Amino acid sequence: METKTAKLLDGKTLAEKIQKELTAQIIESQAKIGRPPGLAVLMVGDNPASAAYVRNKEKSCAKVGIASFGKHFPKETTQTELEDVIAALNQDEQVDGILVQLPLPEHLDAVKLLHQIEPDKDADGLHPVNLGRLVRGERGLRSCTPAGVMRLLAEYEISLRGKQAVVVGRSILVGKPMALMLLEADATVTIAHSRSQDLKSITQNADVLIAAAGLPGLITADMVKPGAVVVDVGINRVTDAHGKSRLVGDINFASIAGVAEYITPVPGGVGPMTVALLLQNTVTSYLQAAEESGVLNVK
Ligand code: NAD
Repeated sequence: METKTAKLLDGKTLAEKIQKELTAQIIESQAKIGRPPGLAVLMVGDNPASAAYVRNKEKSCAKVGIASFGKHFPKETTQTELEDVIAALNQDEQVDGILVQLPLPEHLDAVKLLHQIEPDKDADGLHPVNLGRLVRGERGLRSCTPAGVMRLLAEYEISLRGKQAVVVGRSILVGKPMALMLLEADATVTIAHSRSQDLKSITQNADVLIAAAGLPGLITADMVKPGAVVVDVGINRVTDAHGKSRLVGDINFASIAGVAEYITPVPGGVGPMTVALLLQNTVTSYLQAAEESGVLNVK
């Protein structure tokens, strides 16, 4: 019997395509606006994983022509100092997007800092105003990771209308906005979480299964409906028996590829899409600011 192999949802290739489109859009708009879009990534302390994420974001900004106004603060920086920095960036006309790289050292209140970011410069799409706009179905900056998943599904023309979608994870960063976006696309949505009973009986009904729990190997082939679309948001660093470390998602990729119709790899799936959507949010804010100030007439 022939073994089935799921088609790959290739986030890396799509992210590169989005970056090319953004590059062209920036060249065109910059000629009229007179400045490039700007993104400020604020990082506190020296968490090596965060530093790698920040470098990657800044490299991607440079690639498409977004100016970086990133700032790296020592770990003893106070809440007030950071609030002052955000207040200044909110006013800075060169800056279209602001984000605070998490996690922050324990003495800092990340939620309070997030609340302080001007909602129209909230490049991560996590400010309560933008989450409220998502709930209401209004225009606004959308959270990058779930928006990246939606863009990936759209690219492969995967219809969500009337489909059973299951999101595993209910965080404010991924699970909750993901569920709302799927609902907005007319899916019937179930959210499973750490207190859900019998996860398998829930995931087995999913036409579209989004895994975002942060647990390697949580989703196995027997939990997946044949022909399902499986999106792996998880990024987990694991060390194998030989002491070699690598990144894996939340799903058992090899076995699920034999059951699903579509599947995302880790790395190369949702991760690059998150960065692409961050750049896109920055450009959206840039164009909106230009439109509001009358520099640019969009449509
Ligand atoms: P989180 O720890 O805030 O949330 C995890 C969620 O999973 C919780 O809502 C919890 O209820 C649920 N959960 C935990 N154990 C479970 C279980 N046994 N069964 C069902 N649900 C369970 O994490 P997060 O910030 O939402 O991130 C989730 C994963 O996605 C992590 O691996 C993270 O690294 C990754 N992530 C990836 C990207 C990307 O760009 N690909 C972006 C953000 C987060």
